[in-house]
Amino acid sequence: MAVERSKNFITDIIDAHNESGRFEGRVHTRFPPEPNGYLHIGHAKAICLNFGIADQYGGLCNLRFDDTNPAKEEQEYIDAIIEDVRWLGFDWDDRLYFASDYFDQLYEMAVELIQIGKAYVDELSPEEIREYRGTLSQPGRESPYRNRSVAENLRLFEKMRNGGFKEGEAVLRAKIDMSSGNINLRDPVMYRVLDATHPRTGDKWTIYPMYDFAHGQSDSIEGITHSICTLEYEDHRPLYDWYLDNIEIFHPQQIEFARLNLSHTIMSKRKLIRLVQEGYVRGWDDPRMPTISGLRRRGYTPEAIREFCEDVGVGKVKGVVALHKLEYHIRQDLNRRAQRVMAVINPLKVVIENYPDDLVEELEAINNPEDESAGTRKAPFSKVIYIERDDFMEDPPRKFFRLAPGREVRLRYAYFITCTDVIKDEAGQVLELRCTYDPATRGGSAPDGRRVKATLHWVSARHAVEAEARLYENLFTVEHPEADPDRDFTDFINPNSLTVVDPIYAEPHLAAARAGELYQFERLAYFIVDEDSTPEKLVFNRTVTLRDQWQKARKQGGKPGKAKRRKRAAASG
Ligand code: ATP
Ligand code: MG
Repeated sequence: MAVERSKNFITDIIDAHNESGRFEGRVHTRFPPEPNGYLHIGHAKAICLNFGIADQYGGLCNLRFDDTNPAKEEQEYIDAIIEDVRWLGFDWDDRLYFASDYFDQLYEMAVELIQIGKAYVDELSPEEIREYRGTLSQPGRESPYRNRSVAENLRLFEKMRNGGFKEGEAVLRAKIDMSSGNINLRDPVMYRVLDATHPRTGDKWTIYPMYDFAHGQSDSIEGITHSICTLEYEDHRPLYDWYLDNIEIFHPQQIEFARLNLSHTIMSKRKLIRLVQEGYVRGWDDPRMPTISGLRRRGYTPEAIREFCEDVGVGKVKGVVALHKLEYHIRQDLNRRAQRVMAVINPLKVVIENYPDDLVEELEAINNPEDESAGTRKAPFSKVIYIERDDFMEDPPRKFFRLAPGREVRLRYAYFITCTDVIKDEAGQVLELRCTYDPATRGGSAPDGRRVKATLHWVSARHAVEAEARLYENLFTVEHPEADPDRDFTDFINPNSLTVVDPIYAEPHLAAARAGELYQFERLAYFIVDEDSTPEKLVFNRTVTLRDQWQKARKQGGKPGKAKRRKRAAASG
């Protein structure tokens, strides 16, 4: 992957290790998802970072599932995560691991800690354990079971393993320090009894290690040199260190970075699962979801996501990245790769009165002005066409340059037309336009050199392919849906996040389009063909709109400036 990577605080640390010889020049990272949901764009950042750093240093990166909680984890998530990481363009060769691969070893490590007097079986109830733990300002209290003998602890831990305790009746705890200022060190739970079938180990175990007891050792077992994680784990590092030091095994270096947050989005799997389960979206891969599978279905490309992650960079300071930044990168990418076609979403019928009734001309249209090798196609033109309703105003304000009564505009790849009549219903709603065309302007320019100020897209009514368009808006109406502690994030769900338009009219070239193909509907937006498409009916998801300076200016109450106008003229051809 030829992404140029900048230096950051993590590469500084790695460079220092390489200089001091701490890991003999090895760089081995891992991406460690918990399979309790689908991956989201925040995970993409961690994936790009871990695989990217390994790549940069000629090292390795493992994919490891932290599957320590069978109550929440499912095979469906494991499969989806594997698909998503691969789709993003990363490869772990044969290094696909599971924390559950290490359950035997972890059990042995726990026994070792019991043997050296550093772990004990506690029979306080979960509520009591919580209460004994104390608070940030108050030290914890020691459990009455804390000073059991090694022999008794060994016996009871085995009893836990053999199903002799029910959930909540006993746990294994590390014997560290109930008065520590770091709550993570107040005798944390290492093992609990869980009556659940594990996706991989089935019913072999009745006890499961806590994430904190499994994570550092899993890294150690795999020989991970740089264990990169998000800032919430900074306070857990002393605990991971304690386990590794007391068990006396290889010690990776943990490095924490600030997690990615995006505006108008939520990111935690715990909340994303609610959107799915409570029916706010159609599934984990709903194109409105910030999941990788949702973004893929929306039309995002791995390249755009990787560029975005690179652009966002990596640091220690928490912040929120504007959703616009993500959209910027997909526009950049699709501008290069998407084939242009013409489609009309909100149709207005135009009859070209002086055009021969039965004539059909096949006009040459350019597939991608950014890519000559994309070639050309034929677009049929005939007497009755559709244009976009927004491209006509009966009584246009000064800065509206598109079609209006008496005005001449260019139809892309076709002719200049002039609006001669407006046909309305009784309520005054415009039903259709009557126009004339100038046969001398075929291909879009006038031999006499006269100019028009706008170029419109169009579709021949007789030849149009009908399709469904799904137009997406932000899923949340506010920038920070989680900011208010007194409100649930679902209060801010945008009721207009999905608008289905059916039918839209597209040029017949699209009849052969296949699921997954990306198009630019000229002057409107980028779209991807959705997997819901059938041979009878295509379904298009709007990935992202093109910039529309006119709309933007109108919303801001201003008018497009000169520079913007020039840009818009260029953009609309
Ligand atoms: P969530 O809160 O969304 O469930 P998580 O951290 O619990 O996230 P994991 O499956 O444990 O999810 O995450 C796997 C890896 O991805 C971890 O190393 C984690 O630090 C990283 N990660 C998760 N969310 C983000 C994010 N928003 N930005 C960057 N990295 C993230
Ligand atoms: Mg987690």
